[in-house]
Amino acid sequence: MSDTLLSSLEQHFGFNQFRQGQQQTIEQLLNNQSSLAIFPTGSGKSLCYQLTALHLPNLTLVVSPLLALMKDQISFLNTKGIYAASLDSSQTAEQSHTVMADVRSGKVKILMVSVERFKNERFREFINQIAISMLVVDEAHCISEWGHNFRPDYLKLPRYRDELNIPLVLLLTATATKKVKRDMSERFAIAPECIVQTGFYRANLDLSVLSVKTAEKASTLAKIVRDQQGPGIVYVTLQHTAEQVAEALSRQGLHAVAYHAGLEDTLRYNIQDDFMAGKINVVVATIAFGMGVDKSDIRFVIHYDLPKSIENYSQEIGRAGRDGQSSQCFTLANLDGLNTVENFVYGDTPELNGIEFVINDIRQHQDQQQQWEMQEYSLSSDSNIRQLALKTLLVQLEMQGAITPLYAYYADFKYKFLEDKAALLSHFDAARQEFLNLIFSHTQFKKIWGTLNFDTLTQTAQVDRKRVVAALDYLAEKNLIALETKRITQVYQVHSHVISNPELAQQLHAYFVGKEQAEIKRIGALIRFFELRTCLSYNLARYFDDNQAPQQCGHCSVCRGQAVTLEYSLAHHFADDAVIYQKVDELISHLASKGINNLGIETQCRFLAGMSVPLFARNKVRQLSGFGLCEQQRYSEIKAKLLAR
Ligand SMILES: [Zn+2]
Repeated sequence: MSDTLLSSLEQHFGFNQFRQGQQQTIEQLLNNQSSLAIFPTGSGKSLCYQLTALHLPNLTLVVSPLLALMKDQISFLNTKGIYAASLDSSQTAEQSHTVMADVRSGKVKILMVSVERFKNERFREFINQIAISMLVVDEAHCISEWGHNFRPDYLKLPRYRDELNIPLVLLLTATATKKVKRDMSERFAIAPECIVQTGFYRANLDLSVLSVKTAEKASTLAKIVRDQQGPGIVYVTLQHTAEQVAEALSRQGLHAVAYHAGLEDTLRYNIQDDFMAGKINVVVATIAFGMGVDKSDIRFVIHYDLPKSIENYSQEIGRAGRDGQSSQCFTLANLDGLNTVENFVYGDTPELNGIEFVINDIRQHQDQQQQWEMQEYSLSSDSNIRQLALKTLLVQLEMQGAITPLYAYYADFKYKFLEDKAALLSHFDAARQEFLNLIFSHTQFKKIWGTLNFDTLTQTAQVDRKRVVAALDYLAEKNLIALETKRITQVYQVHSHVISNPELAQQLHAYFVGKEQAEIKRIGALIRFFELRTCLSYNLARYFDDNQAPQQCGHCSVCRGQAVTLEYSLAHHFADDAVIYQKVDELISHLASKGINNLGIETQCRFLAGMSVPLFARNKVRQLSGFGLCEQQRYSEIKAKLLAR
């Protein structure tokens, strides 16, 4: 088989040899063995499915978390003459119809989608009719609740695989601890011998951890950057730090640009392009930078703030030196930023009463067919649960069998005529004209734009909602109207015997608390890693279950005899208890005046820690002087204080 594979590799991709791990993975797959491939980023993971797909009879379905990554892979495949396509939210109805037709006819070999696509009933109906040879899950560690980038919707992939009868699975990831590896492979029934892992150890990365006081960080950074040759990335935690640090470097004559999620898309793309093209030397970025940046000659990566976890650290330093040339990685570490990193975790745990609110909403607002509708934004606001945590909660309700997603629709349809109404109608026969007139008569026009009133239309005129949507879609496609849709509404089937379980809220809350504790432990492990007294490279490789690395790498700060202990460098004391309690009382009476009572202790802690939750945004809580009073303190300490009250 290996000869055939090699000539296929050469013929389709123009490479004359496989990189480490690729051949074994492909051979297993062609032998009908589902596999898990763990290769460092930039070492050719994608080729494993790309070449395999060409030798399989039916479609290969790839689930990928990021649109930009999909687009890159699709254009790469298309340059090789392989028809790959995606179904995604950036497409027009016409484009997705073409893709769907080409998938049906077998022209498309590889189809890429996001995991969210499966929530769409129309997509599920479509993909159900397609014969699929292989399911590929990119960034597969997202499926593990023990992973660092858990995405709740990924938990449903094993079920989709069963429903769609997909015989073969390939999971791809760059980082996985032993636990995550076991978790991933069990969920997809992958045999232990089908896990292919290449070495994690990188001989060309020099790792240094420096214990630096906050006041000295900026000057230390400038000194390090000045000594470097070639392009590099400086990672920070917060958006405004990115701006400040880039400015400070620029003032010192070191050309640096800030990059974070708060910038406009076009600006972000330009920065990426300029960095790739070598026009920008240093990018100061939050973790939003890096996915999709495949630059092989990055000479240094500096962590100005603590990374979020060992997994994040390894992924971020892994962007340096992909060309195999020696590259430097520095971490400027102290404990001042610990509370900031921890707050990301604490802010995402819903309170018990928030979970109860959601469950009660489902119980009380389901209709006669036991269907329940929700809009993420307003439910998040009403339940005081952040949107990501709300998504996790809904998936957990789904996994418990309490709800099943049916379909999504837009609550608001607005349109305007692009052609005179009479002229527009003249394109259609009498029956269709009558139907369109019905739609138009249930639309309230203000000047130019009209808002469709679905309720009166479907109730009084007894027409099918789907037919109305299809008609408007058609008019928009033909450029007869401009259509705007807003407020996506998700509809679920409710299963009363599960949702009525009185213990349900408690169980789900326990799940979230367990997750929170695991995340906090992960941060503890990161601190211990930086304070190690034995080789950093060796321990990093071991953390990811690679025991082949040398015990003393000779190119880390510990091997050079410079192990550190991390310390607090900023004043770290609380305001007086009396002041703290008084500010909390102000919060309580402020919210009571708006009819909100029984504040949980977590809400009080979040207020003092200066964290954003939907309840605060809605009630202008940020204006109170106590907001963020204890933002320098760790959440667990704030909580202990309030519990002692
Ligand atoms: Zn070492």
